[in-house]
Amino acid sequence: MQLFGKRYDTGETVRVQIAGDKVSQVSPVQVDTEESERLPFVAPGLIDIQINGYGGQEFSSGDLTPQKAAEIIRAYDAFGLVRCCPTLFTQSFEVLRHSLETIAAACESSSALSRRMAGIPVEGPYLSKEDGPRGAHPLEHCRPPDWDEFQRLQEAAGGRIRLHTMSVEFDQSPAFIDRVTRSGVVVAIGHTSADSAHIRAAVDAGARLSTHLGNGAHPMLPRHPNYIWDQLADDRLAISLIADGHHLPPEVVKTFICAKTLKRCILISDLSGLAGLAPGQYRAGHGRVEILPDGRLVVAGQRKILAGASRPIGTGVANAMQFAKLSLKEALSMAIDNPANLLDIEPGGLEPGDPADLVLFNMAKTADQNTPPQFQVRSTILAGKVVWEA
Ligand SMILES: [Zn+2]
Repeated sequence: MQLFGKRYDTGETVRVQIAGDKVSQVSPVQVDTEESERLPFVAPGLIDIQINGYGGQEFSSGDLTPQKAAEIIRAYDAFGLVRCCPTLFTQSFEVLRHSLETIAAACESSSALSRRMAGIPVEGPYLSKEDGPRGAHPLEHCRPPDWDEFQRLQEAAGGRIRLHTMSVEFDQSPAFIDRVTRSGVVVAIGHTSADSAHIRAAVDAGARLSTHLGNGAHPMLPRHPNYIWDQLADDRLAISLIADGHHLPPEVVKTFICAKTLKRCILISDLSGLAGLAPGQYRAGHGRVEILPDGRLVVAGQRKILAGASRPIGTGVANAMQFAKLSLKEALSMAIDNPANLLDIEPGGLEPGDPADLVLFNMAKTADQNTPPQFQVRSTILAGKVVWEA
């Protein structure tokens, strides 16, 4: 198979030849300007390390089946995702165990599926009970860290838990983080009401990421110190951010990226299981939520506390370019290289021998210069095969 496109990193027009599931050759081709304009960009496929479900089905659910998990993953083909981390949020032990066993069974049933699901992040249940930091995680299931429980969950997952987001204000947090880190799982700070000393102790104990920094937080905070500055200033922490245009204002996205530098920033969609549904109120695994007409997903009954996201990660790439004045290559590094490095995931690539896991897409400019371009997927290629086409 061969395909033509503009390299995402240099803009050069190339022919990409694929043999089996690998890229075999990438060579420049001469085309006129008009033809070049018409061609899509070609890049390694996107990687989303926080994505919760789709079309009314959450991964974190007592009725998840291996078939449903596989269906959700297939829906992500349209987003140009070649690797994703099906994410579980706070639930009872029984529901978490069921979800983990089910995802593990789906992985065991198909090596292709297993390769796509690059580890399971578990967000919660060891989160702050305070309104604001807790976000949409159900109060009755938020609890202090429990190493025995975590080990049983990891067992249910067949060792596939790779990322664990927790609050860090509990007395036992540093000891717990140390154990989880030593077991090979990346610990992230999130949904926290921790103070400066807690944050420092958590990072000293091994925490390496701040999950969706700036969200899952109090609506009002002391100007300083507070847990956002503390995490922003600690160079040992990378951050994940939801640049969907709803979760963080453009100025915050830009400031976070400048403070952390590109290499410590990871774009996530945090896509809710309700993504893809029409506006209205829904009962989700984590309580009543509402999809507003503008696409924002909020805890039902108010307008301020967001309950997840409804835009795929490509939207975040396009927004980050606009908000932080980044090149396409720079913005994509936060959705390919950086998540791959954090969780040791093998990405696709454009060198001979690289996995042929690619995305072809357009960056559609809008008439208004202040509006971000649109990331439009043209096709998604997985293991050398076109799995989705516009
Ligand atoms: Zn969250």
